[in-house]
Amino acid sequence: MTLLTLLGSTGSIGTSTLDVVRRWPERFGIYALVAGRNTELLARQIAEFRPQVVVVADETALNDLRGRLGSHIPELGFGAEARVAAARAHAAGFVMSAIVGVEGMEATYEAVRLGKRVGLANKETLVASGKLVIEAMRASGSELLPVDSEHNGAHQCFRAGRRDEVAKLILTASGGPFRKTPAEALAKVTPEQALNHPTWKMGPRITIDSATLMNKGFEVIEACWLFDLPPKQVEVVVHPQSKVHAMVEYTDGSIIAQVSATDMRMPIQYALTYPERADAPVPRLDWSESATWNFEAPDFKQFPLLKLAYEAQETGGSATCTLNAADEIAVDAFLAGHIPFPAIAATVAETLDRIPTREPRTIAEVLEIDRASREAARRVIEARWGNKAATEAVLIGKTRA
Ligand code: NDP
Repeated sequence: MTLLTLLGSTGSIGTSTLDVVRRWPERFGIYALVAGRNTELLARQIAEFRPQVVVVADETALNDLRGRLGSHIPELGFGAEARVAAARAHAAGFVMSAIVGVEGMEATYEAVRLGKRVGLANKETLVASGKLVIEAMRASGSELLPVDSEHNGAHQCFRAGRRDEVAKLILTASGGPFRKTPAEALAKVTPEQALNHPTWKMGPRITIDSATLMNKGFEVIEACWLFDLPPKQVEVVVHPQSKVHAMVEYTDGSIIAQVSATDMRMPIQYALTYPERADAPVPRLDWSESATWNFEAPDFKQFPLLKLAYEAQETGGSATCTLNAADEIAVDAFLAGHIPFPAIAATVAETLDRIPTREPRTIAEVLEIDRASREAARRVIEARWGNKAATEAVLIGKTRA
């Protein structure tokens, strides 16, 4: 029986992970549930999965959770230190990293450093601190199994050949809800429209990042670290149906593609059972029905954040950390209705110009750069779109921290 520490249990990936665990009670159980502030759902998860340890974001959430507990009372904690302890615990044989944002980074890093098997959904960890995490993985022998569907697909494609036979990795992108929106109309799109993703049901940050293609940029960076590739060997192709998740082209021109339904329980289960495969509760593709799949090049002009991501990865050092931090602040400000959609990219670009790049040597330094970058992004928003927008972004940032 493998016991999990589940970082982000109340989120989209977290609940899908629990759905997989629920189906294999003889194989998987829960050691720790780690969440933010959704204590109502967390209390229900505690009653069902009976974890030994539960961690929430802060003391307020902890007090709230105490009032909701039933007969099973786990060891309770809150904050960053408790998250790290839950990820480091000897009893946890698998750590699922599914907290959104850099909040999940330290705990994920510590699990990798200790040589644990880690299912990686939280892409911000590799975007902000890829070099440190991969160095730690190599030193400890930790297995980092991608849960992001494109990287999970790539992981499967790479099993078809030798690494020195790889010509390039191709990641597919749905193109988001604004693939066909004229550039001039983007200034008027609302958060509700941007949250309406055509193929995936996900948390709000990643959904907005999908609409700007920032998410695909993060995935390029994540792929470079996970599969040890330079950015120029990672190509993005828009594929609106999201059936092909990734393709690996080998040196002889042969392309291996990974195809499956758009259901995150498939990559989650793959990470949990690897190298074995098991029956998964996902819809099967019906080949008796005719279907058309389209592929097209991304529009780097309309979606400049994808280009910025390539450039930041080429620059190296802390540039990708700044990219992520600025994007998170800008997405929050957009969701609060204080900046227009194109301002997300403008804020990120200007923040990258303002923050000098350096090579962080520790996770603490990464977090320091992250904080400085967020502050710079808030100042950009304040300067360009007024005080109210910046104040809101600060407040949202504070409630998240
Ligand atoms: P959600 O917004 O649905 O969930 C986020 C989770 O993080 C929630 O459990 C939330 O807790 C928790 N959380 C937030 N802040 C804190 C904190 N300070 N301390 C502890 N927990 C916290 O996000 P998703 O599940 O969509 O995404 C999670 C990660 O996986 C992201 O990095 C995303 O990029 C990545 N990913 C997601 C995919 C998807 O299909 N959803 C696909 C590929 C990658 P609470 O709600 O209780 O506050």
